[in-house]
Amino acid sequence: MRMYDIIEKKRDNLELTKEEIEFFVRGYSAGDIPDYQASALIMAIFLNKLTKHELVYLTEAMAKSAKIIDLSDIKKEGKYIVDKHSTGGVGDKVSLIVIPIVAALGVDVFKMSGRGLGFTGGTADKIESIKGFNVSLSLEQACHQIQDIGECLITQSPEIAIADKKLYALRDTTATIESIDLIASSIMSKKLATGTDKILIDVTVGSGAFMKTIEDARRLAETLVEIGKIAGRETKAIITDMNQPLGRNVGNALEIKEVISFLLSDETTLFSNEIKDLKDVVFEMAAYMIKMAGCGDDIEDNKKRIIEAITSRKAYDKFIEMIKAQGGHIYEVYMDWIGMNLDMPVLKDSVKYMKEVHAQKDGYVVSIDSKKIGEALVCLGGGREKKDDEIDYAVGFEFTKKVGEKVNEGETILKVLYNDKEKFNEAFDYIEDAIYIDDIDDTLALTLRNKPNVLDIIG
Ligand code: URA
Repeated sequence: MRMYDIIEKKRDNLELTKEEIEFFVRGYSAGDIPDYQASALIMAIFLNKLTKHELVYLTEAMAKSAKIIDLSDIKKEGKYIVDKHSTGGVGDKVSLIVIPIVAALGVDVFKMSGRGLGFTGGTADKIESIKGFNVSLSLEQACHQIQDIGECLITQSPEIAIADKKLYALRDTTATIESIDLIASSIMSKKLATGTDKILIDVTVGSGAFMKTIEDARRLAETLVEIGKIAGRETKAIITDMNQPLGRNVGNALEIKEVISFLLSDETTLFSNEIKDLKDVVFEMAAYMIKMAGCGDDIEDNKKRIIEAITSRKAYDKFIEMIKAQGGHIYEVYMDWIGMNLDMPVLKDSVKYMKEVHAQKDGYVVSIDSKKIGEALVCLGGGREKKDDEIDYAVGFEFTKKVGEKVNEGETILKVLYNDKEKFNEAFDYIEDAIYIDDIDDTLALTLRNKPNVLDIIG
């Protein structure tokens, strides 16, 4: 079999066989097929799409490209191990909040996350902005950690889903990300390889997501659920809005700070408009994870338990427990408002400069193009342009205004934290274009503020 013939066949829109797909995945994973041939095939798949058979063969071959984990030994009686994944977004720190919340409520979580992809951030990069945190645990270590503390967060490695690790990085630099087939096979191969019983996927839609329309998001959600079904894994997809950055912070270390403050919220803060979009998505995802894990059937009741897990600080403690277990550095800080010392992660967050971006006129923020904000973050060095680029963990944006909020001329909309003036200038072109302010009426502004963040549930 020759890689050339496989590329030619897909280029001509003919169906590949199981053997041909396996040949490609095996050869590329082993380093026998070069990046340029893999890129050509991936582009042909992007343009001509996969048939259902090809998609299943590709996903299975990718899942089997390294070890398939058997979690049966660490599974607890009557409970299921759940994995959660997002199709990607800007400011998307949901996984980092959801893992400790559900772990605090008795759910065992085996989370395998990716790095930043295109203009979207990656959970593995975000957590690495904590000094010392090790996302590359061996499988044995990961399983022990789940047994000990009920949670772990790792990334793709040569031991698991090696094909996805390599293809993910290749797609990131060859304009081949936004394909339902490639996203579905990438996500589901990792999920099948981790051997978890249940899979919950946050399918994002909007300017800051790979799916731009609700129809495409539904198609992706249905594809993910169907692959899960064929593989005998219960899979659910929740479609959520990504038309503006999620939460108030975008950037690796900044998002960790937002995770910390979310997990330290009191009830008033949890129900404030400040964090409504993030809270809506976190609560929905966490409530379904608890249900799928067999730890609580009633979604509304689960949401009440989530509030309790946060306000009692059990979820925060669980977050710190995972950081410590994975080598993250911690320091103690005295918190006035609770009158005691609290463990805090040590962040790679040193920035030299901060600039405020001001409103040019009175009105309401009508839209914030999250793709442009994600691209601006890459310009600042907070994401990768090439697959081996080093990340600047500290840079990013803090939004003081979000969609539907009133602004006066000269008021700060966002703060930009950066380390390099030239990079700032590059990023500023994207930022300027991203924010649209207009003099709309109060009712429309209210509708924009209250737009639902959870759009549909599939599976
Ligand atoms: N997340 C993944 O793991 N893969 C993709 O292709 C997109 C989002």
